[in-house]
Amino acid sequence: MALVDIQGISKKYADQYALNNLTLSLEEGEQYAILGASGSGKSTLLYLLGGLEKADAGTINVSGRDLSKLSDSALAKYRNELVGFVFQFHFLLPSMTCEKNILLPAEIGSHKMAKVRKKIHDIAEHLGVAHCLKKYPYQLSGGEQQRINITRALSLTPKLLLCDEPTGNLDSENSAKVTDLIQDLAKEFGSTLAVVTHDPGVAKKFSKKFVLKDGHLSHESFFNQNDSVPPTP
Ligand code: ADP
Ligand code: MG
Repeated sequence: MALVDIQGISKKYADQYALNNLTLSLEEGEQYAILGASGSGKSTLLYLLGGLEKADAGTINVSGRDLSKLSDSALAKYRNELVGFVFQFHFLLPSMTCEKNILLPAEIGSHKMAKVRKKIHDIAEHLGVAHCLKKYPYQLSGGEQQRINITRALSLTPKLLLCDEPTGNLDSENSAKVTDLIQDLAKEFGSTLAVVTHDPGVAKKFSKKFVLKDGHLSHESFFNQNDSVPPTP
């Protein structure tokens, strides 16, 4: 069953299409890698899926909600209850401990805090960053900060986990480890996972991949599922 159904969406910035008539569906519980050159619309797609931006045309349906029809407050609720986001650049607030950073979305929504705290601890433990929870972001390495970001994204058991180049700042060994952890946890939580990546080593770990080109699906999309790099036409 499809969790996400995207029909003919377009998004323009100034005169330029970031996304141009894109149609795509993501199946519940499946894991996807999104590939494509810089500027091909990958981040824009994740922002639209996460309800951070609105499409100019077309529809995005997630778990029965038409995102284009939601009010700003309904979109905020959608983000809080259904979506986990790991951004390309870290978005941890420097003045708060990592634990406080992670708890913020739960405090905004109506969540059972004791349960969330326990879950955060369990995920951080699994990701090897439990010892970082009481520290401030600046006291952590890049890899630890990204694991804290992942802990935050997963803390409310999102149905849809969106990751924008989550391993962009990591060396290849840590990239592989972090990708494995994201995939394992998404599977455990039953989350649908979409990961934008440039890294062939990361892409290789996904059997379902699609390629964006100039704001729409490239005809190379859904190439041989065992290849990490699309064949030349
Ligand atoms: P990718 O993540 O694949 O590198 P993006 O989705 O960030 O691509 O961008 C797609 C296109 O839209 C690019 O040409 C980019 O310059 C443009 N774009 C993205 N966000 C904005 C914005 N907020 N304002 C203006 N142009 C934007
Ligand atoms: Mg991007």
